[in-house]
Amino acid sequence: MIDVDKCKITYYPATVLRGRAAPVEKIDDNIRRLVDKMADILVDKKGIGLAAPQAGVPLRLFIVALSGKREDVRAYINPTVTPHGDLDEAEEGCLSVPGIWAKIRRYKKATVTATDLDGRQFTEDAEGLYARCLQHEYDHIEGTVIVNRMGEAARIAHRRQLKKLADDLEGK
Ligand SMILES: [Zn+2]
Repeated sequence: MIDVDKCKITYYPATVLRGRAAPVEKIDDNIRRLVDKMADILVDKKGIGLAAPQAGVPLRLFIVALSGKREDVRAYINPTVTPHGDLDEAEEGCLSVPGIWAKIRRYKKATVTATDLDGRQFTEDAEGLYARCLQHEYDHIEGTVIVNRMGEAARIAHRRQLKKLADDLEGK
């Protein structure tokens, strides 16, 4: 049972962001409340995607709303994301890694299969920003964040902010 009231945004390098998340066993009211809470965080922080580990919950679940609007929030439960096509590099940020934007290489297209909140499985082909967002969120449930995908030069360029995030987590 997840204490949804206690869920809040987690910041890198929190442990929950660095492990592989577990499958959602059952889509019940607790999961629906979690998705609601995640939507609150997404809209509040002006994001376009949020994975459960970013709310402190190590489950294979993420939400996407490319418009940033609450009514466009969709849930992807136990998803698989298969990237394909050419690679593309674009600036990317992450709500859990504030203050850092870095060029991240992703595939231009992706196919997602997931279960929705009503327990129905769906498959979609995505490209552009949607494909990038799906790959970013899928990374989260696999324990990968943009810091792991940044080049060495970007990591050096952002070293102060990375140190600050680590210090903040330790309460320094
Ligand atoms: Zn992120």
